[in-house]
Amino acid sequence: MKFKHMFKRTAVKAGSVNSAGNLFAARQPEVPDGLLKKCNSCKSAVFVEEVKKNYYICPHCRNYFRVHAYRRIEMVADADSFEEWNQGLKTENPLHFKGYEEKLEGLREKTKLDEAVITGKVTIGGTPAVIGVCDGRFLMASMGEVVGEKITRAVERATEEKLPVILFVCSGGARMQEGIVSLMQMAKTSAALKRHSDAGQLYISVLTNPTTGGVTASFAMLGDIILAEPNALIGFAGPRVIEQTIGQKLPQGFQRSEFLLEHGFIDEIVERENLKEELGRILKMHAVDGAVKGKSRIPEKADEETSQYISEEKPGQILSEQCLKNDTEQSVKNDGEQSQSGKTETKGMNQIGPKMSAWEHVQLAREKNRPTGKDYVNLLFTDFVEMHGDRYFRDDPAVIGGIAMFCGQPVTVLVQEKGHGTKANIEHNFGMVSPDGYRKSLRLMKQAEKFGRPVICFVDTPGAFCGLEAEERGQGEAIARNLYELSGLKVPVLSVVIGEGGSGGALAFAVADEVWMMEHSIYSILSPEGFASILWKDSKRAKEAAEVMKLTAGDLKELGIIEQIIREEEPLNRENLPEVFEDLSRKIQHFLEHYETMDETALVKHRYDRFRRM
Ligand SMILES: [Zn+2]
Repeated sequence: MKFKHMFKRTAVKAGSVNSAGNLFAARQPEVPDGLLKKCNSCKSAVFVEEVKKNYYICPHCRNYFRVHAYRRIEMVADADSFEEWNQGLKTENPLHFKGYEEKLEGLREKTKLDEAVITGKVTIGGTPAVIGVCDGRFLMASMGEVVGEKITRAVERATEEKLPVILFVCSGGARMQEGIVSLMQMAKTSAALKRHSDAGQLYISVLTNPTTGGVTASFAMLGDIILAEPNALIGFAGPRVIEQTIGQKLPQGFQRSEFLLEHGFIDEIVERENLKEELGRILKMHAVDGAVKGKSRIPEKADEETSQYISEEKPGQILSEQCLKNDTEQSVKNDGEQSQSGKTETKGMNQIGPKMSAWEHVQLAREKNRPTGKDYVNLLFTDFVEMHGDRYFRDDPAVIGGIAMFCGQPVTVLVQEKGHGTKANIEHNFGMVSPDGYRKSLRLMKQAEKFGRPVICFVDTPGAFCGLEAEERGQGEAIARNLYELSGLKVPVLSVVIGEGGSGGALAFAVADEVWMMEHSIYSILSPEGFASILWKDSKRAKEAAEVMKLTAGDLKELGIIEQIIREEEPLNRENLPEVFEDLSRKIQHFLEHYETMDETALVKHRYDRFRRM
């Protein structure tokens, strides 16, 4: 044990003299047993009380200590809101495993827990939810029949009472002492979650250290939203088993939360001290009457309800408040300019801006200071919760997606992101989306459909990524799947082309009820360079190609490919971007008002017809 931090609180060093002049030289401060513990990571001595107040995080190295189930509930739930369910269930000891019942009895006494999970109902940030928390002190929170049964009952009751479920997971996996009966708990809990999901309810799993085996392969990985604590070990097979099997050492960070995030399996890593707030925010976004169709989903007391969760003031917030306030005024002022079909729009696209060549449009669309998708998200929306990963292979940084609030209602937002500056360009692969990015977007679109949220996409890509890996993972299939699924998505979909709308890579984000374009964005079958190269075997004739391709917003409006053109400053950059937002925000409001009143069948038919006539 290192003692360097041990006596911090006494503020008296051996050999020092206090104000009264007494010498403390020979005497060690007395520290009662249990007051100090050794951090298993940095080996420092830590004060138990200090650690408790600090979310069970080591003050020296930020190692996360194990949290007992009841403490965990105290940490995330509103005070005194926990109501425990299904206490006192006992296993039948299905294998009649010798000594098992005695072992459980001992653990019950030691931990004051019935079993390895506690379940019940809480409120978090005022929103009710069903909660289950695994406790690693009880046989590594392995899943025997009681654990499976308690989770299943909690989920079933949540389905019945139309409540979201949050499970805090840690586990060594299935419980060996209960053999095949334990294995069946994986299917039982998963089946209960399927019903809960089919009933349109939200499930959030929070993965903590360690989450392994049959629990990872069942309820842990089935969250609509999967959160994880930093550096938690999460995997199916334990690291030791893998090392023995392959005869190799595993790399640093293997199977940790950060590894899973990169590989597309979790949405977000949340620091322990932020978990309550984040859970509250996510719950709130799913509680805003999301499933009601055919009427405005903007809550009457939206100011009150949303402001509570708006953490930092940003332009989008001001706009959001403004759009609530001005909503009715704007509708009146909106003389003759209709969102749908755009037929009665008074300002025709030809009057927008000075006439410029198609090639000039191309150059403006590619301008390196042009705002990217993220800039639009920051300005238009509040409370953005970013979700990561396709749940198959990777989190593609060329796509940023998540849930955000727009004028008091939750929406799913997806952007193709190029990034600003060379470093960010490379990180985001210049907005060239990989199959993993299309699969992430599809996952989030389907999630939006489940919760009745509109989808708003921002298109900005030179094209889908062309590369070896992209082909190996089925780039064509991924794009096709998006077109196919988007055509039938039962929630409103809006796409705004903000920069380059390159080929199928753009279309996979634009099978929408309406497609709008920023005035100097472009949308085309492929780049002018590619077009010239294929048709004329000369990519240098790109300028000439641009003129014949009909890729400007004006051309595409005339062709009936898009509905709206958003006027923009020239050249558009991050500084003057806010000037287009009043217009854009108002148009989005009108879009939502119009399409949210359509029933699902009419909505999908409208989208079908939109492309059918092209
Ligand atoms: Zn430590």
